Amino acid sequence: MPEIDPQSEHLTINSLVTKIVLMVFAGSFAAAMLVSWAAIKPTQEFIARSIDERYPKAVQHAAESTSAWLSAGREELVRATSPAWDGALEDLLDESRYFEGFALCDSHTEFSDGVGSVPICPPAREDPLPESQWIATSLANGVVVPAAVVRVSREDEPAVYAVGVFDRKQLTLLLANHSPDPRGNMLLTLGTGGVLVGGGPNPSTRIETPDPGREAGGGVRESTDSPWRHTVNTIHPLGGLLEGSGWLAAFEIRFAEAYSSLLTLMRRVLLIDLVAILLLCFAAYRITSAVLNPIESLSVGARRVAQGEFEFEIPDPGTRDELGVLINAFNRMLQRVRTSQDEIKESNENLRTHNIKLQQANELLEQLSITDGLTKLHNHRFFQDQLTREIRRVERASTPLSLLLIDIDDFKSLNDRFGHAAGDDLLRGLAQIMNATVRSSDLLARYGGEEFAVLAPGTDQDGAYQLAEKLRTAIAESSFILGDTMRLTRVTVSVGVSQFMGNRKHFFEQADRALYRAKAGGKNCVMVGEDDSIG
Ligand code: GH3
Ligand code: MG
Ligand code: MG
Repeated sequence: MPEIDPQSEHLTINSLVTKIVLMVFAGSFAAAMLVSWAAIKPTQEFIARSIDERYPKAVQHAAESTSAWLSAGREELVRATSPAWDGALEDLLDESRYFEGFALCDSHTEFSDGVGSVPICPPAREDPLPESQWIATSLANGVVVPAAVVRVSREDEPAVYAVGVFDRKQLTLLLANHSPDPRGNMLLTLGTGGVLVGGGPNPSTRIETPDPGREAGGGVRESTDSPWRHTVNTIHPLGGLLEGSGWLAAFEIRFAEAYSSLLTLMRRVLLIDLVAILLLCFAAYRITSAVLNPIESLSVGARRVAQGEFEFEIPDPGTRDELGVLINAFNRMLQRVRTSQDEIKESNENLRTHNIKLQQANELLEQLSITDGLTKLHNHRFFQDQLTREIRRVERASTPLSLLLIDIDDFKSLNDRFGHAAGDDLLRGLAQIMNATVRSSDLLARYGGEEFAVLAPGTDQDGAYQLAEKLRTAIAESSFILGDTMRLTRVTVSVGVSQFMGNRKHFFEQADRALYRAKAGGKNCVMVGEDDSIG
């Protein structure tokens, strides 16, 4: 039994499989995004809160420590140079723990001497030096640096100032100690531009201020100074002697590093989402295919049944679920139809055979109904029917029609002499002789007991007379052995002939009368009807 191939066009865009897989994809994608957002959002808020708490505090501590350290540095310089200083700058540098270079400047910012990282002399000094100028901004090796300024000349002499450039390495270490994250940069800057000292792996050249009016200590900001540099930063002004000087402690860190745990979480969640979505889509594809393959087979099967085809089977999915049961039922139904078809075929064959037999029986019956049982000639009833038909034909075609009534002479005495059975034999023998004598177009019938009739279409009375003579002669010249006598016996017949002249009754009466005359005239002769209308 051929099986239906369940492979169908599942992967076309309109197929149910594609639609279901797309639906599952959209649904799982939406669900995954929602769940991920619900999981990531609090983490992001938590990290943002943690950054908001830790960074400003760390920068504030850095600012305070730096201010204290700078003040301490200047204190040391004041102590080293008072009450009157007459030494060499080299000695100052050797003894100092805070500085990396010195210069001597007069009140007109004239440079007179320098050692180490030599600063540019700060602007003109007032005398006495106001506290706000104790720590000034200077340039050393092209870099902006904070510097301590101390008057080193006697009071009666023109003012000379020692300007000490603070040691940037120590500053860097100090700042780094306060860094909330080693991946970020702890910086000391003047205003928000220009690095003075950086405490970190990769200090930037600027701390971005998205709004120019940003106030120091204004929390954590996000800045993007180039498409690939997205940072989180916070600033805090230095206090003490540097209050209002524009010097800031700042911390900056790349956004990706500040939020690295969040980004790692997001990457993991998205990976899990992706894997889950793909697994769901794959599962949807497999399940839908497993359901649709049998349905597709059923659909193909139903179409074939609709076209009158039953010689196939749907492959058994091997499951006992609803589809398995349905397919089994479908196959059993096909089997049933096939069996019924075979039965119908057999019944039809039987019916056909019976029909043929019935037809043959009917034909036989028909034949019997128009045949005389003894002589096998046509019987009286058939003769009458045939006569009706012939009369109709004659009336249409105007052709002649004649009738011969033949009666055996002295049959009763033959019967009496030789017995009834011998009479029957004689009737059969005469029938054979007459049958051999008439034409096939003539109708010979046994009209009564020992009377015969011949209907001769297309034959006029003369022709009929000749036919009658032929019959009479043929019989008269024949001999019969009747009964057990072993003697040859001659038998004669008398014949009355008439031609149809438009009246059936008259037609018969004429023949009958002619027969009567033949009998009366001595038998073994032929007489024709004496109708005046016959010429
Ligand atoms: P006629 O020459 O005047 O015709 O005399 P007939 O004896 O032939 O005529 P009748 O009518 O007197 O007798 C007919 C006889 O034919 C009577 C009947 O017994 C006999 N007969 C009629 N039918 C059959 C038949 O089927 N078989 C036999 N053996 N005899 C029959
Ligand atoms: Mg008779
Ligand atoms: Mg007779």
